Amino acid sequence: MFTEVFEKHDWDEVLMSIYGKTSTDVERALNSRKRTIEDFKALISPAAAPYLEQMAQMSHKITQKRFGKTIQLYAPLYLSNECQNICNYCGFSYDNKLKRKTLTGMEIIQEAEYLKQQGFEHVLLVTGEANKTVGVDYLKNAIRLLKPYFANISIEVQPLDEDEYKALVAEGLYAVLVYQETYHKENYKLYHLKGKKSNFDYRLDTPDRLGNAGIHKIGLGVLIGLEDWRADNFFTALHVNYLEKHFWQTRYSISFPRLRPATGLIEPKVVISDKELVQLICAWRLFNEEIELSVSTRESELFRNHIIKLGATTISAGSKTNPGGYAVEPESLEQFEIDDSRPVADVKKMIEDRGYKAVWKDWEQFTVEKAAV
Ligand code: SF4
Repeated sequence: MFTEVFEKHDWDEVLMSIYGKTSTDVERALNSRKRTIEDFKALISPAAAPYLEQMAQMSHKITQKRFGKTIQLYAPLYLSNECQNICNYCGFSYDNKLKRKTLTGMEIIQEAEYLKQQGFEHVLLVTGEANKTVGVDYLKNAIRLLKPYFANISIEVQPLDEDEYKALVAEGLYAVLVYQETYHKENYKLYHLKGKKSNFDYRLDTPDRLGNAGIHKIGLGVLIGLEDWRADNFFTALHVNYLEKHFWQTRYSISFPRLRPATGLIEPKVVISDKELVQLICAWRLFNEEIELSVSTRESELFRNHIIKLGATTISAGSKTNPGGYAVEPESLEQFEIDDSRPVADVKKMIEDRGYKAVWKDWEQFTVEKAAV
């Protein structure tokens, strides 16, 4: 289990080690053929800031070599804003007085038809953590309803047991995103005040259960703004390293959500600048050439326009973060405010204007189809 690896590392020591990296460490990391986790620390450290241009060029080259000039598009499909947990950074938190909504089967289909018309083949189903309303049976039904519409169905929902994941994989589930939010075990409690999500260890072990359940892809990440983003990304990298060794047939993606304004939300404790976020994304690419790097509409138009050439492989477009937000009930309360609100067609055009191709399916299928042509 990853817990055993995790427990060998102390947060404060990791922090000191990252902030103690020098330009010599950064240059060694840049010149290394096979980069280690120590190299990753150097690349995300403040000492690497003056090397950003070089890192960006290297990241661009590696990404293009591995993924071609392509950007994969997906849309989140919020199924429910019901949640039994209290997390003080989230608009869906139980103590937040808002109208709760869970899509019916008919409404799921209405949303699916809207997204299909936009061209999407890859949807990410999102719910709060409300076991009675959006438990495994609800998710199974949603996957069954959506399978005729989409090539790839992923979920970002409450962590489940291994058998439950197996049941969803059997229904055709492709990927699961499960963000640890922060690997700072002590401070994790400050953000997750009530409910199942307050169980740090159960969440930390979720990717192990997913690997055992035979899921195709696992998405990891932290919520940038809670704790030091450098240390948090070191632990994410450690987690990916562990998973790649134990579940080598599974694919992995990383996201970089920044804390965004939402009703009743705490202010970010730590702010990452746009430059630092570019550094982080490039560091990930230099550390792991295979991993998918995803940037959502939480980020601004300007940032997203630039990042597609610097290492990102996957972006969402035209997103709504409220259940029924596309076609059923566009006015319901969103989970967080999005920044890039361009229609899908505009995002696609932006990608093409940069000489890239917008890909609607997941990489694996896209590669298989390309190979078959
Ligand atoms: S982060 Fe997830 S579990 Fe926490 S309040 Fe929001 S929807 Fe619920």
